[in-house]
Amino acid sequence: MNPVDYLRISLIDRCNFRCQYCMPEGAKLDYVLRQELLSDGELLTLLREVFIPLGFRKFRLTGGEPLLRPGVVELVRAIATLPETEDLAMTTNAFLLAPIAPALFDAGLRRINISLDSLKPETFDKIIGNRAQSRWQQTWEGIQAAHRVGFNPLKLNVVVIPGLNDSEVLDLAALTRDRDWHVRFIEFMPIGNADLFRDRAWIPSEELRDRIRSHWGLIPAQVKGNGPADIFQIPGAKGTLGFISQMSECFCDRCNRVRLSADGWLRPCLLNETGQINLKTALREGTNLAQLREQVRALLNLKPEINFKLRDSGTTIGTYGRTMSQIGG
Ligand code: SAM
Repeated sequence: MNPVDYLRISLIDRCNFRCQYCMPEGAKLDYVLRQELLSDGELLTLLREVFIPLGFRKFRLTGGEPLLRPGVVELVRAIATLPETEDLAMTTNAFLLAPIAPALFDAGLRRINISLDSLKPETFDKIIGNRAQSRWQQTWEGIQAAHRVGFNPLKLNVVVIPGLNDSEVLDLAALTRDRDWHVRFIEFMPIGNADLFRDRAWIPSEELRDRIRSHWGLIPAQVKGNGPADIFQIPGAKGTLGFISQMSECFCDRCNRVRLSADGWLRPCLLNETGQINLKTALREGTNLAQLREQVRALLNLKPEINFKLRDSGTTIGTYGRTMSQIGG
């Protein structure tokens, strides 16, 4: 396995969208109470005293919707200015991004991934569970603002749901032809909305690549990501196409990450719930930080076994206790 040096940090479990694949309509989610969220101080203590000494250098802020976290710009600044931070990124739905993008950049954020599942406002609103005035335009403006401000690379994440947005795969891929953007197609997982998954199932990345290949051609990209995506390019395109195939492919050997939920649970593998440690409770109960570091080190040693042996359970319905918004996608 790759060395594990990448921590995905959920800043909040709440979201201003209710994407069908993440939170089923009408489902009652128990949001974490504010006092149960890791505070900025607790998070920074964990980074300085536990994760950085264990070799973590790359951090991604996610959620829920990370832009809903009060004081997010200052938290970005605090993490970006830790001397050991080599890479700080964010995953957002971009709805609240436009006015705050310059301040985030100024605070040291350089990379951003934005979820955009459709170019058609009607389909977009259906996917994000919006019945009021369309939210597509404001999201698109958030993407444009990120581009203007200079976030690079700018990645767009698309979860492909059969019958909902799979007819747009070529249009979404086309965004990369004359823009230096990176569109990443993610296989739909049975996490968050089992009924939708049962109803629609998922499309293997290879099938999407075939569609794109027969239209424009498709070549492996020169740039290699350091994550799970397989990266390709339409010949002559400025940007790239990534395929994240956690359903059809085992990429545990490339896994370099663990996840920290907004309420402080450290999770070694997205695809199963084994081995999680409640760091927040340990911290609040006064566990010695050196001891906590050793617990995390022991979990990292176990990670290969947890990943390889148990990943398959995550590709079947009924194995997730939390949605992606609660885990930190
Ligand atoms: N609110 C932010 C956003 O919309 O990007 C960050 C959180 S969201 C949970 C992070 C990522 O999880 C999104 O890119 C979303 O596409 C992905 N995701 C959520 N549920 C998923 C599922 N069932 N299958 C595959 N990806 C999923």
